[in-house]
Amino acid sequence: MTTFADLNLCPELNATLEALGYREPTPIQCEAIPAILAGHDLIAQAQTGTGKTASFALPIIERLSRQPAAADYHPIRALVLVPTRELAVQVGDNILDYGRLLGLRVISIFGGVRFDNQIRKMKRGADILVATPGRLLDMLRQNKLSLAPLELLVFDEADRMLDLGFSNEIRALLEFMPAQKQTLLFSATLDASVEALAEALLRAPRRISVAPRNAVATGVRQRAYAVDRADKADVLAYLIRGGRWQQTLVFTRTRRRADELCAALIDEGIPACAIHGDKHQRERMAALAAFSAGEIPVLVATDVAARGLDIDRLPQVVNYDLPQQPEDYVHRIGRTGRAGNAGLAVSLVAPDERRLLSAIAELTGRPLQLQPVPVAEDGRLIDGKPLTPKNRAPKSRAPKGAAARAAGKGAKPRRTEPTAKAAPPAAEPKPARSAGRRSLFSK
Ligand code: AMP
Repeated sequence: MTTFADLNLCPELNATLEALGYREPTPIQCEAIPAILAGHDLIAQAQTGTGKTASFALPIIERLSRQPAAADYHPIRALVLVPTRELAVQVGDNILDYGRLLGLRVISIFGGVRFDNQIRKMKRGADILVATPGRLLDMLRQNKLSLAPLELLVFDEADRMLDLGFSNEIRALLEFMPAQKQTLLFSATLDASVEALAEALLRAPRRISVAPRNAVATGVRQRAYAVDRADKADVLAYLIRGGRWQQTLVFTRTRRRADELCAALIDEGIPACAIHGDKHQRERMAALAAFSAGEIPVLVATDVAARGLDIDRLPQVVNYDLPQQPEDYVHRIGRTGRAGNAGLAVSLVAPDERRLLSAIAELTGRPLQLQPVPVAEDGRLIDGKPLTPKNRAPKSRAPKGAAARAAGKGAKPRRTEPTAKAAPPAAEPKPARSAGRRSLFSK
């Protein structure tokens, strides 16, 4: 078995890894680190959650720290291109963490925040720059930085970068880089467009694949519940309360649906935040920080905004809408069940989404049985015992005080709820808004 000691990393990096609690390298680290240190180009198929960031960050830090920048200005020697702002921040933070004993300058730049602030950050240069393609290209075109000294180029989540239509920017960026450099390409999926990019950029690359194509992590329990489209918000509120979910990432298809759902949950007394492309970067970062810290129990996101999110031990992911691309299902539910932890992925499937469910099952090679919405009892969701007026009757169960308080933590009181004094103890879990309740009972 390979250990970190076998990977020829410097004592500072080994000490940092020990401090971070990384006991042994993950499979992609075992393969990628020696290949990168030996100077090979690389094409690696790996999803988020496999330890892929460290698999390129550690050897890059190792290489650069062997020849530290001589002057006050740090030329850009390694560039990591990422598809989204969130990933830029996350990857930049990870690299800073890994290299903190070695004095390298690591900077992330991305759109959506003030240009001049980022220019100022770059005044003294950066050994490692993490960037989204658009903002980087703007800076290069305005001669605000130079990639001439570049030694290493990384594409992180190359498939998503191409999905988001960055191929023109990538082509333009390459014009600013030296021909002689080591290129590493990481992608969750290897479709024809990623292979074409690799073909154009990589020289005699080593190939690494750590998970079978489109595999779902084994620790993730998957559930698909049959729900009418109009009931989705109510069913979700019911599941969150009934399952006593404390931290749930919810995916919607559009920005508008994210905002609408967020408002509906807040209306139900469940604090929620939305992140998507229409939100300012500041709002997105604040929402993410509050959710990661457990201050807000529900984060509603579109695929693009949530790409690359790494939330420690995230217990639940919900597909409020099934993704149009089955590959996105794998990306989405890959946010839970990481690093060997258990996770639950719930999909709310409307009748017109059933064909998408079949495409997902075909892609992942795992059948996804459509089930009725389960009964929620004592914080557990009991599958196979469908919700009926009888087992769902609000008056039949006593409230669970702590859970009720936890679910409503920090929220404004529900508009429709009677005051505590006037009302008899409310049922737990509570049914959602009346329109949804009616439709659930009519099943
Ligand atoms: P990534 O695939 O880069 O998004 O990493 C997923 C998570 O695994 C991150 O939270 C890392 O901090 C963590 N991680 C990476 N490498 C290791 C390792 N060798 N041992 C334990 N955790 C790790």
